Amino acid sequence: MSTFTAPKARPIGPVTKGSPEQIAYMQCIEQDFTLSTEKLEEIKNHFKSEMVKGLDNEGQTLAMIPSYVEGRLTGEEKGHYLALDLGGTNLRVVLVTLEGNGKFKTVSTKARVSEELKTGRMRDLCDYIADCIDTFLAQQNLDNVTEELPLGFTFSFPVLQSKINRGVLLQWTKGFSCSGAVGKDPVLLLQDALLRKHVPVKVTALVNDTVGTLLSNAYQKPATLAGLILGTGSNGAYIENMSKIGKWKDGKTTSDEMIINMEFGAFDNERTVLPLTRFDNKLDRKSINPHKQIFEKLISGMYLGDIVRNVVTDMMDRNLLFNDTQQHTEIISAHYAFETAFMSSIEADGTVDLGVTREVLDTNLNLVNVKDEELRIIKRLVELVGTRAARLAAMSIAAIVEHTQVEEQGVDIGIDGSLYEFYPSFEERMYEALEVLLPQFKDVRRSIRLGLARDGSGVGAALTACVADRMMRQHKSL
Ligand code: ADP
Ligand code: MG
Repeated sequence: MSTFTAPKARPIGPVTKGSPEQIAYMQCIEQDFTLSTEKLEEIKNHFKSEMVKGLDNEGQTLAMIPSYVEGRLTGEEKGHYLALDLGGTNLRVVLVTLEGNGKFKTVSTKARVSEELKTGRMRDLCDYIADCIDTFLAQQNLDNVTEELPLGFTFSFPVLQSKINRGVLLQWTKGFSCSGAVGKDPVLLLQDALLRKHVPVKVTALVNDTVGTLLSNAYQKPATLAGLILGTGSNGAYIENMSKIGKWKDGKTTSDEMIINMEFGAFDNERTVLPLTRFDNKLDRKSINPHKQIFEKLISGMYLGDIVRNVVTDMMDRNLLFNDTQQHTEIISAHYAFETAFMSSIEADGTVDLGVTREVLDTNLNLVNVKDEELRIIKRLVELVGTRAARLAAMSIAAIVEHTQVEEQGVDIGIDGSLYEFYPSFEERMYEALEVLLPQFKDVRRSIRLGLARDGSGVGAALTACVADRMMRQHKSL
């Protein structure tokens, strides 16, 4: 499945050319950003003990939220399922036809959610969504089905879930502020609109996109243990034994396993083990959520570029970069101006004169006449920040693998997100870290099989609806 579009990274290694001051500075940077095997081990062990804490108690740093998704997929599930994704710029409706043997087909439609809808009444938003679904079903000739179609609802806002299809909206984020929704169950509100409009759809599952990522991987690879998101943000989910979820108080389940949504972006918010540099601290301080999601800030697309930018601007402040020429430094001085996608281009630059890196700086940041040694410094900074991210992301997988006592025959891990998909050698660097973190495996690459898992909020949500459907039938026959 790993169909990668990302090229290989072309690392240049530590900087050896430049002024004595530049070289000395870069030596410190090398130390600050390099994670030794011992340090990674220490972080992994802390991660594992935090997992146990979160499983046993509410309100821990690793929230370890039970997803109410019980049991596993076999890949033989069949039928029509709908997925609805609300929380980005577009509203998306997907019809997923599961054909068994890990095969499926999808058809989807997108609709814009206007500012008016985002900030109006929840009832109007739900009516709009119901109309979109209705129109879509008519186009697919599914508006006259005898049995209601099960729908998995990816509602990407903070929700306190109480069942697979029940939850309460805690607060709006991302520019939404509909009245009559906070403190209410988005599933009931949407179902109400569907009923009023006679749309033959039953909302059977409230879906987290990380859990969806796990399931979308599991349909094709039933040995899937975990799902990760490495995109704008980061998170992980994995399959846990009910007996290990000490805080579970909701009674009997239809399976002895349940998917746990770890919310691991918050790992080490108390800063006990992660070796944060002053550049990470600055990023955190200037973010919209200081002191929160500390681990996420070290490993995700939204932030990596800005960590590099923080080092670059620090060097500028110390007259170690761009001080000889008449440089235009307005752009690079702005928050989030150095995108993580630039890092990908710079990592892939294998030219002798670093012409690609030069071009990236020129085109995007208006930095012209950058000296050769400056280009090498910037490329090296990118390598250090990108490598650290990949190794930390791998650390979380190693912790899950050891916590769940995976054996030599191994497991699949589904990963979604642009960072994993497009950042050069991100996966390779993850494997290198797994090799040192999991020496108990003879061949870690065969045992811990990473792969791209697309569309957790589409296929994954539809599969969640499918599992919910199965659970409902089993509960009835209990
Ligand atoms: P989301 O997480 O919002 O669902 P993605 O998985 O596409 O979406 O992740 C988007 C993030 O990935 C952005 O923050 C962006 O910085 C980063 N990104 C986009 N393209 C690339 C790229 N080519 N290389 C590295 N990072 C990228
Ligand atoms: Mg995504």
